[in-house]
Parts: sequence; structure tokens; C-alpha cells
Amino acid sequence: MATALDRAAKTFLLQELVSGFWLTFRYMFRKKYTLNYPYEKGPLSPRFRGEHALRRYPNGEERCIACKLCEAICPAQAITIEGEPRPDGSRRTTRYDIDMTKCIYCGYCEEACPVDAIVEGPNYAFSSFTREELFYDKEKLLANGERWEREIAANLAADAPYR
Ligand code: SF4
Ligand code: SF4
Repeated sequence: MATALDRAAKTFLLQELVSGFWLTFRYMFRKKYTLNYPYEKGPLSPRFRGEHALRRYPNGEERCIACKLCEAICPAQAITIEGEPRPDGSRRTTRYDIDMTKCIYCGYCEEACPVDAIVEGPNYAFSSFTREELFYDKEKLLANGERWEREIAANLAADAPYR
């Protein structure tokens, strides 16, 4: 009987509605947990494994020496490299492709690279409408490197003590 009266009282006094409004009102003045993406972005770890990039040295020379360690270690067999010696004896790639539709973002290519040439940068906003756009070639990877070099260098420096 008491339970039925309690329920009736709660219904007539709109207790659940009022407590719901009260909860909403309290959260209006708390710190916001939502972000206005893409204008606001959350923090990223320096170890975040995003879109790939090929880096250059400060003098503009390509870092990659076509050793193919990244190609060999890639578990998804997503990387294809061809290289040849230059007239000065240095070795550079003539082809560096990554099939991003195969990539599982494991980071092994970055770990294997002896000269920090191939890296996974902080960019995660690179979705596309077609598969073809996700077949990256050397030109695209070097362009990514130029675009993100500042962030990539800062992330590598932050992670260096733990490598
Ligand atoms: S992140 Fe992993 S799967 Fe992707 S290209 Fe590098 S080694 Fe291959
Ligand atoms: S990116 Fe690094 S590991 Fe891959 S071929 Fe070039 S130098 Fe070697």
C-alpha cells in the first residue's frame, strides 16, 4: 500500500522529471567534455600512429636509403620499394608505395627504419571516397613529410628517451 502511495506521489509531483531537469541544470556549469570537431581537437600522444610520411633532412635530401627494412618487416605487405644507386654512390628509392588499404598501423615500418625516414605522423583525418586515393606513392609520402615535419620532429624528440 505504502509503495503504491509512494509511486502515486512521485507521479503527481513529477519527481523524476524534476530530478532530470536538476541533473541537466547542474551539468550546464561543469567543464564540457564534448569538442567542437573539427575546429577543436583532443590531445594526441607523441606515439600516435597516423598517416604515413617520408621525411627529408634539413638540407632537403631524402632520408630514405632504400634499405627495404620497412618493406621486409611490414606484416601486411603494404609497402613496395624500388631503389638504385645515384651517380654519387648513395642509394635512394625510385619507387616507394604504401597501400593504405592494407596497412594495419602497427608502426613496425617506423620502428625498423634506421634513419627515421618513414614515420606515422599525427594526421588522422585522411579518409577518402575512393580506394585509389589510398594508394600512396613516393610523391604523396614526401609531401606528407613536408607538411607535418614540425609536428613529427617534435613527437620523435618527445619519444626519444623511451626508444
Ligand atoms: S604501419 Fe605496419 S602495416 Fe602499415 S605500412 Fe607500416 S609496417 Fe606495414
Ligand atoms: S624508409 Fe627507412 S627502412 Fe624503409 S627503405 Fe627507407 S631507409 Fe630503409
